[in-house]
Formats: sequence, C-alpha cells, structure tokens
Amino acid sequence: MPQYRFASFAIALPLYRVFEYRIDEAAPVIAGTRYRLPFGQGTRSGILLEVSDHSDFDAAKIKVVRERIDLEPVLGGHMLALAKWMSEYYLQPPGDVLFQCLPGYLRGARAYQPLRVKRWRLLAADAEAISVLQRTSPRQFEICQALKCEPAGLTAVGLKRINPGWHPVVKALEGKHLIGWEWDDKPTPAVDAPVMPQLSAEQDAIVSAIEPRLQQFAVHLLDGITGSGKTEIFLRLIRSCLERGRQVIYLVPEIGLTNQLLERVRQRFGECFAISHSGLTEYQRFQAWDRFRRAEASIMLGTRSSLFSQCDDLGLIIIDEEHDHSYRQEDGVRYHARDVAIKRAQMLDIPIVLGSATPSLESIANCERSTFFRYRMDHRPTRFDPPSIQLIDVRNSRFDFGCAAQTFARIDAHLQDSGQVLVYLNRRGFAPIVMCHECNWQAQCRNCDARLTLHQSQQALLCHHCGYSEAVPEACPECGHGEIKHYGIGTEQLQQGLTQRYPDTPVLRVDRDVISSREALKSRLEQLQSGAPCILIGTQMIAKGHDYPAITLSVVLDADQALFSASYRASERLTQTLLQVCGRSGRGDRAGEAIVQTRFPEHPLMQALLRRSYRQIADELLQERRLLGFPPYARVVIFRSDAQELQQALSKLETIKTLLQQSPRFQQLSTIGPIPALMTRRIGRYRAQLSLLTTDHRLLRAVLASAMPAIQEIPSTPRASWNIDIDAYDL
Ligand code: ADP
Ligand code: ZN
Ligand code: ZN
Repeated sequence: MPQYRFASFAIALPLYRVFEYRIDEAAPVIAGTRYRLPFGQGTRSGILLEVSDHSDFDAAKIKVVRERIDLEPVLGGHMLALAKWMSEYYLQPPGDVLFQCLPGYLRGARAYQPLRVKRWRLLAADAEAISVLQRTSPRQFEICQALKCEPAGLTAVGLKRINPGWHPVVKALEGKHLIGWEWDDKPTPAVDAPVMPQLSAEQDAIVSAIEPRLQQFAVHLLDGITGSGKTEIFLRLIRSCLERGRQVIYLVPEIGLTNQLLERVRQRFGECFAISHSGLTEYQRFQAWDRFRRAEASIMLGTRSSLFSQCDDLGLIIIDEEHDHSYRQEDGVRYHARDVAIKRAQMLDIPIVLGSATPSLESIANCERSTFFRYRMDHRPTRFDPPSIQLIDVRNSRFDFGCAAQTFARIDAHLQDSGQVLVYLNRRGFAPIVMCHECNWQAQCRNCDARLTLHQSQQALLCHHCGYSEAVPEACPECGHGEIKHYGIGTEQLQQGLTQRYPDTPVLRVDRDVISSREALKSRLEQLQSGAPCILIGTQMIAKGHDYPAITLSVVLDADQALFSASYRASERLTQTLLQVCGRSGRGDRAGEAIVQTRFPEHPLMQALLRRSYRQIADELLQERRLLGFPPYARVVIFRSDAQELQQALSKLETIKTLLQQSPRFQQLSTIGPIPALMTRRIGRYRAQLSLLTTDHRLLRAVLASAMPAIQEIPSTPRASWNIDIDAYDL
C-alpha cells in the first residue's frame, strides 16, 4: 500500500470547518502555503494547516491536491496561531479569517514570491580588460563606465536608462566575469543621529518606565491630552526597539491627514518603513507587506489591517488614537484591531503601547482592573495647553450656511491674526434633505432606508450607504410641482459659502469626496503646512491625529444630533470627537481657541464638556455603564441576518434563537430581538438582529459553546445570510 500524506486546508468560504486532501508529491510541505485544490466542479486555493500520515477516511476517496501555488509560505506559524485564536474568539469561519490576514493581492491564486531585485556591480577593477572594450564593444564599455561611477551598483531600472537593450550586454559582461549581481535585499539603514527634541520631564519619566519593560508582554496606555507629546514617546520606543534589531507595527486610524507623521518617521528613521492604507493599490499594499516581511522595512505604519503584517522578529506594537472606531472591522470577519493586537502581543510576549487623549472606556476599565499600565500626560511640551471648549448658544441665531454670527466673528478675528481655522462638519455633500413643499415628498434611496444627499458639483442625488445616484429631478416626482427645495448644510455648501465670504483666504475641504485624488490632498496639506492663513473644512477625517501648529481656532458646527442618539455609546463618541477636534488648535506658539455651536447649551453633556476633564467625564460614563450593565462591564453579542425579504431575515434569527434556547442557561442572558435593524433596508437587503447581553462573560461563552455547533450548520445563503458579531459595538 502506498504511503500517503494527508493535509487539512482552510478555504475562503463561510463554512466552519477545514478540508482534508491527499498530498502525493514527495516535496516537503510547510504550513501556511497555498495550494490549488479540486473543489466541487472547479478549483479553489486553500491554505495548508496541518499534515498527518493517516486519515480517518478511505485514502482512495480523498481528493488529491493539484499543485502548490506559493514558493514560500504566505502565513508564518505565529499568524496561523493568531488566526486560529481569532476564529475561535470571534466565532468566524477559519478560512475567512485566514484569508483576510493576507494582503488582498494574495487572496486569489497569484503565486507569492518575495519581491527581490538584482543589483549589478563591477567586480574587479580590471582596467585593462575594460579599456579593451572601448574598441571591441562600446556598449559593454558604456555599462562598465556607468557601474564604475556607482559603487553601490545598479538595478535593472538604472541599467535600462543607460541602454534600453541592456540585458544581453549585461549577460555578456557577466560571462567575462567583469560584473556580477547580488539580491538587493539589504535592510535600508536608518539615518544616524537625527535631531530629536529634548524630552520633557513628563515624557522622560514615561519612556524610562516603559523601556525596561520592552522585552516582555505588557499593555501600556498613554493617556495624554491632545498634543502632549505621545507621538514623540512612540518614536523613542521605536528607536529602542530597532536598536535591538527588532521590528515594529505602528497603527493609526487614518492616513489621510497624517502626512506629517510620515515626515516625522522619515526624519527619524530614513526610508526603513513601509506604509499601508486603503488609499493605496492592492499591489502597493502587497509590496509594503513583502518589504516588512523580508525585514527590508523595520517599521510598518498603517491602518487597521496592517496589524496582520508579518515578520520574523516583531518587537513592539503601537496603536495611536486607540479609541478610534475605525479599528473595528464592521463587515466580513468582524474584529477589533486593538483587541487582536493585544492578543498578538501577548502571544509573542512583546509590549503594546496604546495612546489617546480620549481613551476608550474599555481601556480605562482595563486600567482599573490593573491589567494595563496607565501613564498620564497633562501638559503640552509646547507653549500652550489645549484650549477649553466654549459653547456658542445658537437658539436664536440666524445662520448663514450653518454658521452663526458669533462664529463668524471668531473666524474673522483669527484670520486677521494670521491664524488657520478648522471647521468640523460631519456631513459631506451639499445638502442632506431634498424635498417638495407641496406634498412633502423627500428624495429617498431606492435601495436603502435613507435619504439621498444633494451633491451640487455632480448635479446628482447620492446615497451615502450604497452609492446609488440619480439626477436632480426638475419637478416633484410625486405631485409635479416645479420647485424642489433642499435643507441642511453639508461640507460642499459650507465651502462654497465660506469661499464667498472670505474671497482672499484659501478654503480647503477634506472629506471622502475630494481626497480621492492624492495630488489634491497633497496640495491642501502643503497649504496647511506653510502656516499661511486658511480655513480647513472637513468631516471626521480632520478630527484625527494631525499636528498643524498654525491652527489657532477649531469650530464644531453641528454637534447636537448626537445628543439625542439612540446609541448608548453616543455620549462617549461625541465627547471624544469634540475634544479631538478642539485639540487640533493651539499646538504651536500661539494659544488656541475652540468653539462648539449648540442649541442645547444646558444639556448635561455640554455642561460637562465646559466644566470637566475627559477623565472625569469618562469616569461618570463608566459609572453609568456599570449601573446599566453595559459594556465594558458587560459583553454584547449580536446575530445579524440580511435577506431579500424582512421576514426571511427574522425567521433565520428565530431559528438561531431556538437553538440558543436549548442551552439551559440561555434564560439568564438578556436578549433583544429578533427585531429589524435600525436601518432595516440597506443596499437592497432587509436586515434584522438578535442581541445578547450579559455581565457574566463565562455564562455567555458557555451558552455559545453549547449552541454554536448546531447554529454553524445553518446555511448562510445569498437569499438569507447570517453572521455573528462578538463584542458588537452597539446594541
Ligand atoms: P500627541 O501625539 O500627544 O498629539 P505630539 O507628539 O504630536 O503629541 O506633539 C505635539 C507637538 O509637540 C509636536 O509638534 C511635537 O513636535 C512637539 N513636541 C513633542 N515633544 C516635544 C518636546 N519634548 N519638546 C518640544 N516639542 C515637542
Ligand atoms: Zn410634491
Ligand atoms: Zn442607498
């Protein structure tokens, strides 16, 4: 009987299982490598997990692996272990989890081969042989001359510049042993002795406290006001780590406005970092992933999914603005990058440093449980501390494009004083409401339970949820009335209004509609960097992490909506956003000012913002959460379903609930639903949810452990799909 080997594979399918195949080739097999597998009528790529000498099945009936795709494994042993943990903790299909740990470029069937390039050098300075070439082969001579001037050698790109038909010429020179090549994969050296500011006493104490702990797992939270110098501390810790020859992952919520962070990193560490974010192409992200993997880059600077970057010797993970919502992946495999990062650090026994001026309540509660080290920073190393918030009561005000007269007065004053002004309005487009006055018709998306937003520059009504767009109607589609009106203000209209009012001042807008072009964004950022007076308008993109010292005034136009949100997280989020926006001003050598327009100045949250620090507000919110039995003192799990009909979605969840009820302890959990989701129809599908809430983590795990095997058998089909969201953000 022939000796077979059997292997389990993960396939990117929403199925809670792995697949067994037979491997007949004798070559060594390594876990984490992708193979082409026969599957159904066709083939699929699968990631090899484990190999064994025997199988419980009849060897003759097991399908045989077709071929190996990768030359080297795409996932290392540690990533396989982390993905296994994610799959078990988030109860997600193992194949989905594993494939989403890969860069998008490698999720299909493209072979992975490290991206190395050759570099040619002149071998021996055989001056005589070379000078002979001058007569016998001018083209070979030309290349030798060029290489003589480049002691570091030239890659194909450089050689091609000298001679477009370089390849045979170089081959001939190689044959004569005059030139030779090496792989160009030496790590880029870091710059020596960069200029670093003298640490403040506060910063110095923190660096000294963390540095001795860099060799083992610990979670460190830098809880420091905006501009207190957290980034500077990150940079020092990165340096210590690189000096030990180890690599660093540095996560930020958004790359958009953090260009100057890139500059800071470049100044400190030269070109030895890789960048990855959604503004790059799939191939560029793959290049970054590969450079980090080959240790050509020592630092990976990127957004959420950069957490899954691999390398041989990770020494530190940094998460800036750890409270930021964008660290949660809300579709496909749902996870929280901060939580997975902590797990990764723990598995590797390395430190992780979180930073925020407005830490999440989860992290603050973890500090109380003393599982995190917390470091407070209460002052800016620059001249001025962040401005305190002033409320502008706009109950009786007249508005021009969303701004009250008092607001204009402050903008005027700061511009006259050569300051830059930031205006935050979290609504893109021209106007959020388009309607007919005769019959009250409103422009609605045909795929979603949502209004269409007027985008004037495109002459279109757009849905911000599904991307649906239609032309602005000439007359009311309902009653034929000839006049359609729009209400409310978006960033597009605000920009138009402010440009008219301040014709001599550049009014820059940064939101998803305008930054699709990198060039456009770059020129805006250069304007800000120049320090000349200007107005920066934007959505949440401008609330995060940037450091432009010439901004002296922050204005928040419309905060009131969030005061009446149904979400139990609304107060936390609003407080964080307002403090972050306001903290963007006064970072240089001039004091900042921060104003918030509101119709509800008496609202307790607005009053709290006036009188209390973030820490005090956070402590109060935590007490409230404890009383209500909400996260972080409780766990939330949501089963979601979406389907062609609402009834199908609800009944899928009823089936799930019935299975949960078979667990005797299910009654001890609080449950809500199945009920239609808040936005019931989205992108043409009906959505419903079933939420479970409890303060007893063990109980929840026990119920899920007993019910999930049966639930996982429920098919998730295009007609009616379902998924589970562990540690869901909302209820
Ligand atoms: P945060 O990350 O807390 O918002 P940053 O590290 O970006 O703060 O620091 C805010 C500003 O203060 C930056 O312009 C930075 O260059 C400057 N800064 C930080 N630390 C120092 C220091 N020790 N001395 C002088 N300036 C500093
Ligand atoms: Zn009408
Ligand atoms: Zn829509």
